[in-house]
Amino acid sequence: MSRPVGRIRFMDAQRVNLDGFAVPDAALGLIAFDSPADPEPSLVIADGRVVELDGRPEAEFDTLDEFIARHGLDLAVGDEAMALDNVEFARMVVDPSVARAEIIRLSAGMTPAKLAKSLAMLRAPELMMAMTKMRARRTPSNQAHVTNRLDDPLLLAADAATAAAFGFRELESTVPVLADAPSNAVAVTIGAAVGAAGVLVQCSVEEAAELELGLRGFVSYAETISLYGTDQVFLDGDDTPWSKAFLTSAYASRGIKMRVTSGGGAEALMGGAEGRSMFYLESRCVALARAIGSQGVQNGGIDSASVAGAVPRGVRSLTAENLMVMMRNLESCSGNDALMSESEMRRTARTLPTLLAGSDFICSGFGSIQRYDNMFGPSNMNAEDIDDFLAIQRDWGVDGGLRTATAENIGELRRRAVAAVRAVYSWFGLAEFTDEHAERAIDAAGSKDLGDTDTMAVLNAARTIRDSGMTGIDIVTALYESGFQTEAERVLDMLKARVDGDHLHTAAIFDEQMNVLSLVTDPNDYRGPGTGYDLSGERAVEIDAIRQQRSVADLLDAQAGAADSDAFTSSGTAAAGQDPREVVIGLSPAAGRAIWTTLSGLPLTVALQEILAGLEEEGCLGRVVRINDTIDVGRIGLIAARLSGSGIGIGLQGKGTALIHRRDLPPLANLELYSVAPNITRELYRLLGINAARHALGATPDPARNPYSDEAIEARYHTKVVSFVAIERRCEQPGRAPEQLELRGVS
Ligand code: CA
Repeated sequence: MSRPVGRIRFMDAQRVNLDGFAVPDAALGLIAFDSPADPEPSLVIADGRVVELDGRPEAEFDTLDEFIARHGLDLAVGDEAMALDNVEFARMVVDPSVARAEIIRLSAGMTPAKLAKSLAMLRAPELMMAMTKMRARRTPSNQAHVTNRLDDPLLLAADAATAAAFGFRELESTVPVLADAPSNAVAVTIGAAVGAAGVLVQCSVEEAAELELGLRGFVSYAETISLYGTDQVFLDGDDTPWSKAFLTSAYASRGIKMRVTSGGGAEALMGGAEGRSMFYLESRCVALARAIGSQGVQNGGIDSASVAGAVPRGVRSLTAENLMVMMRNLESCSGNDALMSESEMRRTARTLPTLLAGSDFICSGFGSIQRYDNMFGPSNMNAEDIDDFLAIQRDWGVDGGLRTATAENIGELRRRAVAAVRAVYSWFGLAEFTDEHAERAIDAAGSKDLGDTDTMAVLNAARTIRDSGMTGIDIVTALYESGFQTEAERVLDMLKARVDGDHLHTAAIFDEQMNVLSLVTDPNDYRGPGTGYDLSGERAVEIDAIRQQRSVADLLDAQAGAADSDAFTSSGTAAAGQDPREVVIGLSPAAGRAIWTTLSGLPLTVALQEILAGLEEEGCLGRVVRINDTIDVGRIGLIAARLSGSGIGIGLQGKGTALIHRRDLPPLANLELYSVAPNITRELYRLLGINAARHALGATPDPARNPYSDEAIEARYHTKVVSFVAIERRCEQPGRAPEQLELRGVS
């Protein structure tokens, strides 16, 4: 085969081509919606008992059919719901004037195939409209992963506090070394309590160990009970719907919030899809989740997101999976979990609809730590992306559950979290950590910044926690006795909540006053524009005030800090020159008055000295004047040219934009222009002086060119430019004549 042309070689080298794309193959389950093998919806009820489900008679039910038929459907609405036309129902789902409760009522009577067929019709914006209406909780939220490669407890605590400060209301940890789990659970629980009140915590490990962590009170929720859409994959995992239902009840009976995990593509990945579409199989999982009494579902791909992402419409099916959970009246913990693409655009495009529509949890695992520390594997969003996410929330005015935290706040919380874990580990004799280790954990952006740590100490601490019979109450005592009363109370509050169990309602989270927000206390009431959740004044301010925003006052402060107030002296009105070797440099009204540093960060006096030196090199003489009555650099240059003996003038704005003008040209014309102020260096200002001199002497120099950059220069500087212009405008004095300036040290 001949080598492709350069354009194709270049495109092949782009990051999106690290992703895998599959030819759809229904036989392997590599199909998002509507496989030829998907059953036609049907529901036959006789004497109050389901005798046929989605084309299968009772005698042929597999375990999923059996469980769903007996526990998962509201037979009172079965006939009504199944008789609805698919298109008609799909329209009702999207239509804001049809109440959420009505959709919930009808969905309860629909079989997995029926719901899959209707929702497969929804296009992307329709899915978003439906999610806006159908999610259970009015207030959106977000969940974070808090893990690291070393299971370092100090770093886990610091990162848990950081995640809580950024607004995450559920923190999920896991381990690279299974035996470390009890230590991770304790460290993240303490760190979360330092960061904020009411943050739910889990540590995802093997089922028996995870349940024990919950029973001991070290964690407050669980969500990794996996469901699958076919009998075979279930049985391969030594499980049945009954075993999963039992485990679910075990958590709930001890006041531990719990949801199950599923996700399209898992069955295809395990070679057990039976030729069915990902969406139909997921519909069975979600119906099963409802049937076994789970509070919610973490789905939308999860571990198999890249399998779904490899087939046409796969990403759309991931979002449709989340919607299906909402329609079964369960909490949606909406995927956006495993990294499904190496392309920044694809992974953003995958998450954006969920963020804009709003979900109970926008991400079922936003990596609040760096990619390399994410022991679930990198998430679709990680610490690398927190600022991006905050900016996107602000761009669209949407609540993705996160908020800005100041540098000072994060610093203080990390210090306190590390101190609290050190104190508790010391109190129980679990481990002693050095001051150096503590300082590194406070400052660390990730575990690679910790240097060598004693990982055996972590393992020993974990074993002691497990073997000693310690419970959450012991953590409360240790925190309290070590001077961490607030944190002790927060951990105790989470334990107390398990007694009344209000957070076992659908879609429950705690706010920071320990109020439960759930389907019951904070129900989604979206009915179209002007209804439902919107950013409150306080929350809007929190989302808008990202730490990078700057005002004119901020720029004035920065410029005042760079002020060089005796650099220029004014010697009255500037007169026209006669010397044919003279080039006049006109400064803008604010230059050297309120503005001292250009957009490229160069002191204005230095830019000016370079221009003067360039003129001198070519045998010309520079003279500096300030133009008071216009901020337009073209007019400034022209006025300077008209004052100049040679007829050549230079216009220089405070922000650094510069041009060469000639007295006989129209105002909007010029000889040479540097318009990209952020990129203009000392050398370029000198070149501008040299070229101006050559024009003055009647030569035709090679014009100076704007330095080229492919970066988003405008994005970085445009808001600053607005402030610069505002400052220039304040200094502008209509009618006031140009002034002659002397630059210190230049005669
Ligand atoms: Ca999760």
